[in-house]
Amino acid sequence: MRTELDELNWAGNYRYGAPLIHRPGSLQEAQEVVADAGKIRALGSRHSFNSIADSGGALLSLEAVDPDISIDSAARTVAVSGGARYGTLAEELERNGFALPNLASLPHISIAGAISTATHGSGDANGNLATSVAELELIGADGNLRTLRRGDPDFDGCVVALGALGIVTRVTLDIEPTFSVRQDVFEALAWEQVLADFDAVTASAYSVSLFTDWQGETVAQSWLKSRGYDGGVPAAAAGASFYGGSPAVRAMHPLPGFSGENCTQQLGVPGPWSERLAHFRMAFTPSSGAELQSEFFVAREHAAEAIAAMRGLSERITPLLQVSEIRTIAADRLWLSPSYAQSSAGLHFTWKPEQTAVEKVLPLMEERLAPLGARPHWGKLFRADAGTLAPLYPRFADFTALADRMDPEHKFRNSFLESKVFGG
Ligand SMILES: Cc1cc2nc3c(=O)[nH]c(=O)nc-3n(C[C@H](O)[C@H](O)[C@H](O)COP(=O)(O)OP(=O)(O)OC[C@H]3O[C@@H](n4cnc5c(N)ncnc54)[C@H](O)[C@@H]3O)c2cc1C
Repeated sequence: MRTELDELNWAGNYRYGAPLIHRPGSLQEAQEVVADAGKIRALGSRHSFNSIADSGGALLSLEAVDPDISIDSAARTVAVSGGARYGTLAEELERNGFALPNLASLPHISIAGAISTATHGSGDANGNLATSVAELELIGADGNLRTLRRGDPDFDGCVVALGALGIVTRVTLDIEPTFSVRQDVFEALAWEQVLADFDAVTASAYSVSLFTDWQGETVAQSWLKSRGYDGGVPAAAAGASFYGGSPAVRAMHPLPGFSGENCTQQLGVPGPWSERLAHFRMAFTPSSGAELQSEFFVAREHAAEAIAAMRGLSERITPLLQVSEIRTIAADRLWLSPSYAQSSAGLHFTWKPEQTAVEKVLPLMEERLAPLGARPHWGKLFRADAGTLAPLYPRFADFTALADRMDPEHKFRNSFLESKVFGG
């Protein structure tokens, strides 16, 4: 189906300029659309905050394609349509006794859209969501299907690809037997104690998130997701105090003033991974719903310096902020992943929906984080262009060469990619 497009992204801060959108119901229809198109790009669930998904020609959404979830128990993999949402997949996996290693803060996002931007959750040993990809099927610029498997030449350049190499129609992900998780929230941790022992703090659970507004001497909340607890109490939750913080006594929301009802089960009650690894529940609006986001990643040995730099800018940041989240991500081999070849700390910013003011602070933040080699989240607001980004990614030139080979007529490029990747 082809319709005129006059739509906004999820946050409502970006109106797509592409004049039309195709919503094919089958793979064959999608291939015909791509073969006939001049410029075209894939649109996922529209959760990015910038123009990354837009196209000077058409957009193609896979939302009308059946998720077609197929579990291979022996190979420990699941194949699924790229347009399916993580929440749909997680429910089906759990029903069949399987799990993904991690989820982002929300289950609402499309699988292909999330892996294309290296979307991540938290955990010292957890790579971003794209690191679970074992195989990709994509429609290339000529409309033909191509399958790429882990280990193939160039595979590591094709997973976090920002939509620049084609339309990812099917993704095969590694899975594992289901596991249970308990979630414990602590309030008002002492910054001094957290910074003195940052590695121990982030190692204290399977996934650790710290929420802060950068002001004052305390971290507002710490969310600990501990794996494999069916009734026992993890060490971090056993004591009454966690780095100076106290256990929350009611369900919390990371944002001040919002109901914990929107969030996954806390208070140490164990349950399935699919209902604990994300912060927000599928049936509810994630986060605040009226917001912008930015995120910067530094090698984790620079985490304390990056945190100090942002605390030093709190007079500029905090008035525009709803909340910030600090997470850790394991190193990977995916060329455009912000965690390429380095275990990282991610400093995330949920802004008030005041874009002009936010865009005035971003250059200041990027300037302070530049000496630490900070890499921005591809799907959130940032200022750096290709000239600044290229030296931060050792395989950047390999990616642009790969894109030239796979998309010689630049069918899948847009102005975001020209500015941030190809340097046009
Ligand atoms: C409330 C909220 C919470 C968030 N939490 C997190 C978080 O915890 N961690 C994190 O890392 N990020 C987070 N994000 C950011 C989000 O995960 C990314 O922006 C992600 O890319 C969104 O996926 P999407 O399906 O909406 O993609 P879109 O925004 O629609 O597209 C993003 C990119 O993916 C490409 N793409 C989409 N589908 C395909 C396809 N089938 N084939 C090829 N390319 C494709 C597009 O062309 C575009 O380049 C959050 C966003 C929101 C709104």
